[in-house]
Amino acid sequence: DLPPIDGDFYNLDLKLTDEQRKLQMEVRNFMEDEVRPLVNDHWNRAKFPHEIIEKFKKLNITGVPYEGYGCPNLPFLMEGIIAQEIARVDVSISTFFGVHSGLAMGSIYLCGSEEQKQEWLPKMQKLDAIGAFGLTEPNVGSGVAGGLETTCKFDGENWILNGQKKWISNATFADVVIIWARDEDSNQVKGFLVRKGNPGFKAEKMEDKMALRIVQNALITLTDCKVPESDRLQKADSFKDTAKVLRMTRAGVAWQAVGCARGAYESALKYTRKREQFGRPIASYQLIQDHLVEMVSNLTAMQTLVFRLSEMQDADLLTDEHASLAKVFCSMRTRDVVSRAREVMGGNGILLEHDVARFVADAEAIYSYEGTKEINSLIVGRAITGYSAFVN
Ligand code: FAD
Repeated sequence: DLPPIDGDFYNLDLKLTDEQRKLQMEVRNFMEDEVRPLVNDHWNRAKFPHEIIEKFKKLNITGVPYEGYGCPNLPFLMEGIIAQEIARVDVSISTFFGVHSGLAMGSIYLCGSEEQKQEWLPKMQKLDAIGAFGLTEPNVGSGVAGGLETTCKFDGENWILNGQKKWISNATFADVVIIWARDEDSNQVKGFLVRKGNPGFKAEKMEDKMALRIVQNALITLTDCKVPESDRLQKADSFKDTAKVLRMTRAGVAWQAVGCARGAYESALKYTRKREQFGRPIASYQLIQDHLVEMVSNLTAMQTLVFRLSEMQDADLLTDEHASLAKVFCSMRTRDVVSRAREVMGGNGILLEHDVARFVADAEAIYSYEGTKEINSLIVGRAITGYSAFVN
C-alpha cells in the first residue's frame, strides 16, 4: 500500500474552513474531469477550448475577492487556492482566468466609475463577457511605467488611441480590452475600455509560442481608435493606478507558479512509482528520491509563502515588494521543480502525453510575465536597500 499522491505536504488545506475546502475540491474535480482531458490536444494545436467557458460558469469562481456586482467576495486566499487548483492541471487556463478575472475585472473594479462597474462587472463575473488587459507593447515591456508609446488624445468629443500592444492574452476573442495609453497633453497614463468590433482596433493572434500555447495572445494595432469619454476608466489618472491593479494580481501569479509546480511534482511522483527499471520501481532508488524530495521541499516552501502572502493581502498589509518577492521566489523554484520532474521521467518527460512537458514549457512564461524575475527582484531590492536600480 503506497501513500496517497498529494502535493500538500504540510497539510495547508487544514487551515481552510469546511466551506473553503469544499469549493477547492469542486474546482479540483472540475479540472480533472472537464479540463484535463482537453488540454494536451489544445496545447498542441494552440487552440482555446471555448466550450469550457459555459461549464466554468457553474463553478462561480470569477471575481472571487470583489465586493458587489454578483462577485463571491471571498478572501484573496481563496482566489489563490483556486489559481493553484487550475494551474495544477493547466497553466494556460489559469492565465485565461487570471487575465479576465484579475487584470481586466480588477482594472474596472479599482479604476472604473460606478456606471462602468455596473455595466461590465456582473456580466464578466458570469463569464458572459470576456476581458483582456493591454499594457505591454512591442518596444516597451519591463519599462511600461515611464515609457508607453501608445498615445491617447481628446478631440473634444472622443479619445483617439494610436499605437500597438503585444502579448495581450485573450484579446483575439475578448468583448472588452483594457488599453493603457499615454495622454499626449498631460503625459499621464490613462485606461480605456475598448469594445469588441471597434473599427480602429485590430487583434492578430501571435503564433509559434513554445509556452502557454492555449492562451490566445494578440498583437493589437490601434489606428485612430475612437473611444468615448464614458469608456475612459474614470479613476485611472496615472500609472500609479495601473500599478495598483498589478499589485493586486501579482500574488495570483505566484499562486499559479505553485499550481504548475504541484501538477508537475504529482505527475512525476505517480510516474516514478509505476515505472520499473532494473526490476524495481524507479521511485525506490535513492537518486530519484533525492529529486522528489527537492521537488516537494520547494513546493512546500512556496505554498507556505503564498499562503502568508494572501493572509497579508486579506489583512490589507500587502505591498508591491511583498507580491514581487513571492512572484520571484515561486517562479524560480517552479522552474527547478518542473525540470526535476522532467528529468525523473526520462524520455517520457518530453512527451505531452505525460503532462510534465507542458508544465516545463509553461513555467517559462510564468517566469517572464507580470514582471520578469529581474524586475520583481529590483522592486524588492529597492525596498530593502533604499536605492532604486531602475533607470528611466
Ligand atoms: P523586456 O522588458 O524586453 O526584458 C528583456 C530582459 O531584460 C528581461 O530579462 C528583463 O528582466 C531584463 N530587463 C529589463 N529591464 C531591466 C533592468 N532595468 N535591469 C535588469 N534587467 C532588465 N502583457 C500585457 O499587457 N497583457 C497580457 O495579457 C500579457 N500576457 C502575456 C502572456 C504571455 C504568455 C507572455 C510571455 C507575456 C505576456 N504579457 C502581457 C507581457 C509580459 O508582461 C512581458 O513579457 C513582461 O513584462 C516582460 O517584458 P518583455 O517581454 O518586453 O521583456
